[in-house]
Amino acid sequence: MKILLISPTWKKETKVKRMGRNRIFKVPPHNLLIVSALTPKDIEVEIIDENIEEIDFDKKANLVGITTMTASCPRAYEIADTFRERGIPVIFGGIHATVLPEETAQHADAVVIGEAEGLWEKLIEDFKKGGKQALDKFYKSSQRPDPVKIPIPRRELIKDKGYLLSRFLQLTRGCPFDCSFCSVSKFFGKKYRFRPIKKVIEEIRGMIGKPLKTRFLGFLDDNIVGNINYARELFKALIPYKLLWIGQSSINIAQHGDVLQLAAASGCKGLFIGFESISEASLLEANKSQNKIKFYERAIKKIHQFGISIEGAFIFGFDHDDKSIFKKTVQFIERVKLDAVQFSILIPLPGTRLYEKLEKEDRIIDRNWSNYDLAHVVFQPKLMTPQELKQGFDWAYQRIYRLSSIFKRLSGLYRGRRWKYLLPGLTLNLGYRRTFKGKEKR
Ligand code: SF4
Repeated sequence: MKILLISPTWKKETKVKRMGRNRIFKVPPHNLLIVSALTPKDIEVEIIDENIEEIDFDKKANLVGITTMTASCPRAYEIADTFRERGIPVIFGGIHATVLPEETAQHADAVVIGEAEGLWEKLIEDFKKGGKQALDKFYKSSQRPDPVKIPIPRRELIKDKGYLLSRFLQLTRGCPFDCSFCSVSKFFGKKYRFRPIKKVIEEIRGMIGKPLKTRFLGFLDDNIVGNINYARELFKALIPYKLLWIGQSSINIAQHGDVLQLAAASGCKGLFIGFESISEASLLEANKSQNKIKFYERAIKKIHQFGISIEGAFIFGFDHDDKSIFKKTVQFIERVKLDAVQFSILIPLPGTRLYEKLEKEDRIIDRNWSNYDLAHVVFQPKLMTPQELKQGFDWAYQRIYRLSSIFKRLSGLYRGRRWKYLLPGLTLNLGYRRTFKGKEKR
């Protein structure tokens, strides 16, 4: 028996693949590696990541599993319909399938709602017994999986796919915060669940070797310091392995000097931080009051001084954002010298409180999920027109990735003696610059 597990690209026709073909931005589909590990050993599994390879629809398989995010689901539905026309049953999972299972079920033989552990194994058992006729329409559990039971992802399935960074780990699930635009707590719940550090270290020991490149790791957790005591213990445990790692964190890490020091000592070289906005009112509106703007600048300096680079994420389009937000944000980023930047247009993803609010106010103007890609305006903003929001977003991207801005920001590498990271910093910035110079029409 053979199963194809597919990560679809964002819909081709609309060219919304924001990161283009640039491999620097490609991350292996970790959730599919976990699903592979949950699959009984007697079943052959192949992973297809459409973001880096084409799908061969003539491939022989008994079952296809597809993971979905909102922006990729129109393409996911096309893929599913094609396989089903060829008589191969299709299973859906992922965030979009979880928040809109009835919609997804129109293109599937079964839908896994929520985290896969426990559900996938049952689904496979049913399929083995009686094929697609034996499948339930929905597989849903009333309990969140115990993180101890999260298996080690089958990374060997993607080893020849040419990812620039292929060693990623996930340590936690859930988020206690409730940012209005985010679907993480809807999918994973509001309670943090942690994998035991002993298990994480076991996994890391199995991944690293002598060559330096095997010690480059990425942590996929939305906030690696979500529980400060866990982070402390984790970083201490990582120190002996001489790793070089990147991860995502809240800016609050800077409030804990000892944790920052341990992060640096354990090999942290870069953090992706969701600043979201430089407007206090917008942060309040997004229910992200844990971010304190008055501390941003000091916190950035402090993180830099520990030799850690920062890629900052900002969102445009909150109800308190007017046309001045773009220029103010760019000026702020250049002043504080963020090493790299990611901008997004606010998107009301189904399942979020933002979606419910805008739906209630009748402000959703585009229901083509392909456009829910963080680069299109799909709702009526309050203090701008949709066109002004899109133009401001494009302007900010082009402005922040002008060569003069890149060099201005990277001059911040003198903090924390980070000059040796000039080359990776430049590579990342030039990758963004290439993507947003208009080569890929969004
Ligand atoms: S944006 Fe980050 S902090 Fe807010 S709910 Fe999502 S994961 Fe949690």
